Amino acid sequence: MSNLSIILSDCDQLATVRLEVFSPADGDLYGSLDASVYVCEQHGIDTVAALWRANLTAHKATMAPGVVRACPEVYVFPTGTFGNAK
Ligand SMILES: [Zn+2]
Repeated sequence: MSNLSIILSDCDQLATVRLEVFSPADGDLYGSLDASVYVCEQHGIDTVAALWRANLTAHKATMAPGVVRACPEVYVFPTGTFGNAK
C-alpha cells in the first residue's frame, strides 16, 4: 500500500532499514509523522532523496525485531497528513 506521492523503486529485496517519514507542520520539518517506509541498504539513499524532493523529511529508525518487509513497502499512518483519519 502506497499513498505517498513519491516514486519508489520496484525492488522486493528484504528491507533492512525503516524510515520514518515526516511532513512539515507549523514551521517544523518534523511536524507530522506520516508514514514508515521499509527499504533495503541499496535503496535507502534514493528513497531519502525522493522524500526530500517531495518536501518530506526522513528519519532512520530501527526495524522492530521479527518484522519482515520487502523494499520499498510503505505504511501510511491513518492519523498523518496522508491518512484517512483527519
Ligand atoms: Zn531495495
